[in-house]
Amino acid sequence: MTDQPPVALSGDHPVTREAALLRLAAFVPHAGAAYAAGRNADHGPGRHDAVSRLSAALRRRTVTELDVLAPVLSRHGTGADAFVSEVFWRSYFKGWLEARPGIWHGWLGALDRIDARLMQDDALAAAHLAALRGETGIDCFDHWMTELDQTGYLHNWARMQVASIWIFTLGLPWELGARHMFGRLIDADPASNTLSWRWVAGLHTRGKAYLAEPGRIARMTGDRFAPAGLATHASIPDEPPPPPATAPRAVIAPAPRARTLVWITPDDCTLETEPLLAQLPVRAVVIVEHPDDPASHGARADRLALNDALTRAALHWNVPAFRVTGPRGIAALAAEVGAAQVLTGRIATGPGLDTLIAARAALRQAGIGLAEHLRTWDRAAWPHATRGFFALRGQIPHLLDAAGLCS
Ligand SMILES: Cc1cc2nc3c(=O)[nH]c(=O)nc-3n(C[C@H](O)[C@H](O)[C@H](O)COP(=O)(O)OP(=O)(O)OC[C@H]3O[C@@H](n4cnc5c(N)ncnc54)[C@H](O)[C@@H]3O)c2cc1C
Repeated sequence: MTDQPPVALSGDHPVTREAALLRLAAFVPHAGAAYAAGRNADHGPGRHDAVSRLSAALRRRTVTELDVLAPVLSRHGTGADAFVSEVFWRSYFKGWLEARPGIWHGWLGALDRIDARLMQDDALAAAHLAALRGETGIDCFDHWMTELDQTGYLHNWARMQVASIWIFTLGLPWELGARHMFGRLIDADPASNTLSWRWVAGLHTRGKAYLAEPGRIARMTGDRFAPAGLATHASIPDEPPPPPATAPRAVIAPAPRARTLVWITPDDCTLETEPLLAQLPVRAVVIVEHPDDPASHGARADRLALNDALTRAALHWNVPAFRVTGPRGIAALAAEVGAAQVLTGRIATGPGLDTLIAARAALRQAGIGLAEHLRTWDRAAWPHATRGFFALRGQIPHLLDAAGLCS
């Protein structure tokens, strides 16, 4: 494999910090009225100019919410309310899933059951395959499935149409659609993806589903599509209501004077910019490398983002950089460099938890602590993310004030 990024990663959906900051600078002038007016129109692949295309970087915190909102607010003030609100949707979904991690595990369990059904039910398997291949005969859906495969990105509004058609027109389980998108997206995020699918299905805001409409699709795509046969009724999947919110998983904060190995993950690729961490006695920095998966835009993006973050962190702390192949490698390296603790950004509910659990066990055996850094941004936003988005939206001015960002 070569290290050449595909087109989508190089400029349009950047994942290195330098490229993301360039993308941000180019987008800032458009983050006000132009974004509010144009953000829902989908002009097709390579023409998503009305939106920031920063999700792949934000998902990995190659740039943070603060990095993005500071220049946007300084240029547009309240004129950027629509954009600010979208960035807070991300914080909202993250906080909501942290308060109900069982939704993630429930999704994984449901997939096991649905996979067993796919083995038995030929009609379901055929409909699923046609959807995956973009061979349903529904013009916009087939186009978007191909765009997703080829670029790893879909405009937010297109994602809503795809999910809605998947669930209500094709009658396929939302869980399968969420898995497909999660496996393809360059910005694949456990919270935003799972909860957005549930939102479209009518399972997040209970009883309120999103139904794709042919006329609106034609309008929002500049008449590129005229889909026929779309469902006219949203048949909401039968599922018990989500459990009540609980406190997010607690983390151990880093000891300020302990010799530290910094472990960088796709959940936080700019730990060195955190004032609280900048002065830690860091001995080395490390990433865990995963086997390459050329079909996964997200995996390639992770690799680029992690390598970029590793270089920046090593330069900042002036220490050596390492790559290991698994959680045990982290424990072995920590012992080798004489670290008393390993520090990582807080691992979100999602696939990263498995690595965290394995790393914690290996470190415990070696008598080395594992600390996770919870960002002030998350600590402030998550308590307001336990109900509907509007409860959080009402807090945005206070959250911005507290973060030193006045709109
Ligand atoms: C079915 C479905 C699946 C999705 N899966 C993901 C996912 O896996 N990862 C992901 O990051 N987003 C996901 N989203 C949300 C949204 O589509 C993307 O964040 C957005 O399209 C990214 O493009 P952008 O950076 O140009 O967004 P912009 O419009 O420029 O928004 C700026 C930032 O705000 C955040 N944001 C914007 N809209 C949303 C939203 N609706 N929900 C949460 N955050 C938002 C993103 O971080 C984005 O980068 C999903 C939406 C749907 C409907």
